[in-house]
Amino acid sequence: MSKKVKGRYCYKCGVQMNTWDVRLTNIFKVYDTCESCFCKIYDMDQDTFRNYMDKYLDERPCQGL
Ligand SMILES: [Zn+2]
Repeated sequence: MSKKVKGRYCYKCGVQMNTWDVRLTNIFKVYDTCESCFCKIYDMDQDTFRNYMDKYLDERPCQGL
């Protein structure tokens, strides 16, 4: 399951970040941003976004996320 990260919140929607969100934030070098906000920014749905990350950046969430 997704692990919540203490004290880290998406600066756009205020949701508490999980480890995957933090990883994405590090990859894109932005303020703390959650996955759903990344999807909005890049205008992709979650599946498309994850496929993109997997294919081009070799990054994927832990199983069960
Ligand atoms: Zn957000």
